[in-house]
Parts: sequence; C-alpha cells; structure tokens
Amino acid sequence: MIDFELLPSTKMALKGTHGLAAGLFRKIARYYDDHEHEKVQELYDMVENMAKATPKEKKKEEGKEEKPKPAIPMEPSVAGVVTAEEMAWGDAGIMLCFPLAGLGNAAIQAVGTPEQKARLGGKFTAMAITEPGAGSDTAAITTTAKLDPDTNEWIINGEKIFITSGDRCESVVVWATLDKSMGRAAIKSFVVEKGTPGMTVTKVEDKLGIRASDTASILFEDSRIPYDNILGSPEVKEKKKGLGGAMATFDATRPGVAAMAIGVARAALEFTKEQLEAEGYTFPYNLGQHQLNAVQRDVLEMEANLEVARLLVWRASSMMDKGIRNSLEASMSKAKAGRAATLVTQKCVDVLGSKAYSCDWLLEKWMRDCKINDIFEGTGQIQMLIIARNILGFGRDRLK
Ligand SMILES: Cc1cc2nc3c(=O)[nH]c(=O)nc-3n(C[C@H](O)[C@H](O)[C@H](O)COP(=O)(O)OP(=O)(O)OC[C@H]3O[C@@H](n4cnc5c(N)ncnc54)[C@H](O)[C@@H]3O)c2cc1C
Repeated sequence: MIDFELLPSTKMALKGTHGLAAGLFRKIARYYDDHEHEKVQELYDMVENMAKATPKEKKKEEGKEEKPKPAIPMEPSVAGVVTAEEMAWGDAGIMLCFPLAGLGNAAIQAVGTPEQKARLGGKFTAMAITEPGAGSDTAAITTTAKLDPDTNEWIINGEKIFITSGDRCESVVVWATLDKSMGRAAIKSFVVEKGTPGMTVTKVEDKLGIRASDTASILFEDSRIPYDNILGSPEVKEKKKGLGGAMATFDATRPGVAAMAIGVARAALEFTKEQLEAEGYTFPYNLGQHQLNAVQRDVLEMEANLEVARLLVWRASSMMDKGIRNSLEASMSKAKAGRAATLVTQKCVDVLGSKAYSCDWLLEKWMRDCKINDIFEGTGQIQMLIIARNILGFGRDRLK
C-alpha cells in the first residue's frame, strides 16, 4: 500500500520542531554565519534545560512517576527526515551542531548492538571517513586498526579530514582498515571517544557555507580504544565484499542529508515567493490567467523539483522503518535532493536579482549552505554511479 500520510505523533513533533527552527535557528543564523568558529551556546543551554526540566528521579521522589504509556506506532526514520528538513529550514549549519544529532550517532543507531547504543549512543558523535588520499573512493582509506592481543584493545593510527563537528563532538566513528590487503571487506568502523590519548584535532576549516558547524581534521597516533568499540563484526569475510557494516550507515544518513538540502531550498523558495507576492505576483496561480509568465513557471518548476526530492526521501526512510534494504533509494534521494536544492537556491537568487546577492537577506547564505549537500556523504556524481550500478546490476569493476 502507498501511504504518504505522516503518523499523528510525527506531525505533532514536527510542530515543535518548526517552532524551534523559526523561533531560535532563524534568529541566530546570521550571527553564527558571521562568527564561524563560535560554539552555538543557545543549543547547549537548551539541551541542558530540557534535561533539567523533569528529571525521572525527582518525579520518583514526589511519587509522581509516570505509568508506562501504551505503545504508539512509530516511524523513527521518517520522523528523522521530516525533523531534519524542518531544522534545516531554520538553519542547516546550526542543525548540524545539535548535540546527539551527529552523523556518527546515526551510524551507532544503524549498526550498533543494543549494548553499544546504550553505552555510546548518548554522546554527540561525528563520522570520520575522509582522508587526505581518500574522499569519494572510501576503499582507499589507510587509517589502520590493529588489535593488541595483550590488552584486548584496538590501536588506531591515521589522519581524517573534513569531519563535521570533529572539533565540538564528544566522540567520533572512525573508518579504519584491519588489513589493507583484504580491500573493502576489511574496513570497519570504531567509536573513539574524545580525550583518548593520541587523538588530536589539528585543523578547523574556514568554509563557504554551513559556517555555524565546525569541520575539523583529526590525527590518531596509537590511540587505544576498548575492543567493544568496534561497530559490527570484526570478522573479515571475503575479498571484494562491500564495506561490511560500515556501508549500511550511508543508507541511514543519506536520506537525512537529502532532507537537509530540501529544508534549505524550501526556506529559499518560500522567501522568494513572499517577495514576489509583495511585487504583485500571485501564488497559487490566477485561474483567469491563460499563460504563466517566466517567473511563475520558474517557481512551479522549483516546487515540483522539491516535491519529487521529498517523496524520494520519504520512500528511502520508510523502507528503513520497514527493515527493507534501501541503498538504491537512499542514493536516489540524495542525488535528486542535492542537485534540486542547489538549482533552487541559485534560481531564487536569479529571480530576485541584486537584493538577493546582498547580506540583508538570508537568501545568499542559503545558496552557500546548500552546496554541501551535493558534496558530503558522497557527491552527486558518486550517487549517480551507485544508482547506475544498482539498476544495471554492475559491480564496481564494470562501472567505476
Ligand atoms: C563541509 C564539509 C563537511 C564534511 N563532513 C564530512 C564528515 O563529517 N565526514 C567525512 O568523512 N567526510 C566529510 N566531508 C568530506 C566529503 O565527504 C568529501 O569531500 C567527499 O566525499 C568528496 O571527496 P573529495 O573531496 O576527496 O573529492 P574527490 O573524491 O577527489 O572528488 C572530486 C570530484 O570528482 C568526482 N568524482 C570522484 N570520483 C568519481 C567517479 N568515480 N566518477 C565520477 N566522478 C567522480 C567527485 O564527484 C567530485 O566532483 C566533508 C566535506 C565538507 C566540505
């Protein structure tokens, strides 16, 4: 059955998220764009206040402990992407700073054991794949993880670059190889907590967009971590097999990044329509009108592109919620959303002219913020490769 209706619980949560995006993110967006390396303190204060609000222990002491509520239907992945779209509508850079919403958190949720989710899932966790010699070609990573049989610890060595929240996070999911000669099958992911000896943040980038979010390089020199911090099995099954459990994290994170792109582009399009309406354009279109003018046609095309992208994102996420493999759909959603959002934000600037180029409005910032969605978590070109391989049934050897 095809059903595009969100669950009532998701709709209700979305209202709260919209309030946060409009009431906080939008208001501080320009400030943190101008002050790139400043920590978004408002978020930390908010999370702290939420934790203080109704501590379980206090309720217990007062004899007001809540009775267990009846189970309500949940759609965690769909709820996650609609939340991501709404937050990014407020501000994408600030959204990425949200404690516990790191890409590494999604990885732990996607491939961690229940014990790992409980032990490691409560920390703001970044995701470190990219290296100086390994971007799109993740199989080329050279960071190593070696087991010390005497202490039963993994020893991590290598350099990771361009890590979102790499400076401000509390831990990092690091992709490393157990045995370079075994290729992709030997690449595993490991959770390394900040403060681990030998782990150093060596650089924080100055960027084009999402400037509220920090992007850092991290060096690992003989960093020792507990054996149980490997996500998934340490077994290296066979040559040429996919990146084991590590790759499954992309299926979880790509629809979220796609939703983020849609949120930024929706912000730009809504703003553009408001400005156009103030100039006398009508949306929806005047029924008496026999022909659309060029601007109205542009707006229609942008709306259609975002809606297509959104439906692809919802499909990829709803498949995750149903436990259906979604690698193809996740890549489709990211390829479409990344491209559509880049085009939409650029077109909005085109349509509104020179005022849109000025920093008086957030539109120029949305155009800058948007571009990243076509780069991280796999570029647009790489998504197209994955889609083609899946549809044609070709392996990496036939389609590079
Ligand atoms: C702000 C920011 C945040 C980031 N956050 C993270 C993060 O949290 N964690 C992380 O691990 N990484 C992160 N990255 C890194 C990002 O994922 C990589 O930059 C991306 O994967 C591309 O790698 P590359 O820059 O080395 O480009 P390259 O791989 O060198 O690619 C350069 C160009 O060639 C194209 N190309 C490459 N191979 C092919 C091919 N086979 N066919 C067709 N075209 C191809 C690419 O699409 C691209 O256009 C971030 C990057 C930025 C800018």
